[in-house]
Amino acid sequence: MSDQAKNTFFTGLQQNLDQLREQGLYKPERVLSSRQGAEVVSQDGRKLINMCANNYLGLSGEEWVAQASIAATEKYGYGLSSVRFICGTQTVHKQLEQAISRFLGTEDTILYAAAFDANGGVFEPLFDENDAIISDALNHASIIDGIRLCKAARFRYAHNDMADLEVQLQAAAGKRHKLIVTDGVFSMDGTIAQLDKICDLADKYGALVMIDECHASGFMGATGRGTHEHHNVMGRIDIITGTLGKALGGAMGGFTSARKEVIDMLRQKSRPYLFSNTLAPSIAGASLAVLECLSASTELRDRLHENTAYFRKEIERIGFTIKPGTHPVVPVMLFDAPVAQKFAARMYELGVLLSGFFYPVVPMGQARVRVQLSAAHTREQLDTVLKAFEQAGRELGLLPTKAQ
Ligand SMILES: *Cc1c(COP(=O)(O)O)cnc(C)c1O
Repeated sequence: MSDQAKNTFFTGLQQNLDQLREQGLYKPERVLSSRQGAEVVSQDGRKLINMCANNYLGLSGEEWVAQASIAATEKYGYGLSSVRFICGTQTVHKQLEQAISRFLGTEDTILYAAAFDANGGVFEPLFDENDAIISDALNHASIIDGIRLCKAARFRYAHNDMADLEVQLQAAAGKRHKLIVTDGVFSMDGTIAQLDKICDLADKYGALVMIDECHASGFMGATGRGTHEHHNVMGRIDIITGTLGKALGGAMGGFTSARKEVIDMLRQKSRPYLFSNTLAPSIAGASLAVLECLSASTELRDRLHENTAYFRKEIERIGFTIKPGTHPVVPVMLFDAPVAQKFAARMYELGVLLSGFFYPVVPMGQARVRVQLSAAHTREQLDTVLKAFEQAGRELGLLPTKAQ
């Protein structure tokens, strides 16, 4: 390339970046100088109560989890310098795959470096142009990308709309295999997929069902198995993908869990598995310890749901509007984009870290701040956060003025 041509490339990038900034869509990184946790310290030394991590069970910064990862490093070393099938599989990887299968109630599990890879590598080996994939309109980006890599016919149903799902199943009638795929829980609203109804429709039309459990594994359902437990459809879901990077420890890593034929085929053909390095043994070892802990006791899961119920009740009592539900994702609706931005900034000054969302991330007029509860939050911290909500709400004129 001539210098001139190169300059045009870089100048163009800068213009696009400037445009993102002007539109308020530029994403700066928030730099922490502490561990992840209910309380974090920002780079400039400010202490903040953290209400925007996917740290549902509070395990990310937990000392015993860190120690389990250190113990696994001591035993298995730092890394493998190999993909799984050449010389990158250790006993700890097999143990973790078995533990995930036991936890989810499936036959077998395959590990990936991320859930993004699990979703990216699940469709293409299993489905081709004779088949149909029927996907919720608001499914995660990694599901959308994974479906794009596969030759199956694509059908999209309106978000969480069972009538439209049925229409799409009928439209896919001529296809050999049909797969319905949905997030178990949708992270923007905390909406829980209607898996009981989805499984009934799947039975009626002879379809398979796949769920992405990234915002569910470890805490949804009576013993934390996930959305399939929550909706009492364990055993009726054919493919489950999930992450080790949220509730189940928070480092990184993903998995697909299903019948053994499915997992066996993924080990033969799934590209992110075949052409990318094995999960670090430190993460495999710590994840194994986490699953042991969650299988032994529902204490963390119970505390998370208590915190969620408390926060949902109190934030409404103060006078805010939330999206109704039971999930630890609590969208506090502010409707107006500049208000949501100002609100999040004021909360930061008041010592609370949370994130604002506005168009085009959420529909126009649906701007909000999203709160995510954790088992690690103490009642005192939640009360501090609620007080800050009340103060910022009054300052910005979002709440009725206090009766004297
Ligand atoms: C976070 C998330 C992923 C990606 O998980 P990683 O393990 O971080 O790649 C995939 N699907 C859903 C629904 C998610 O929320």
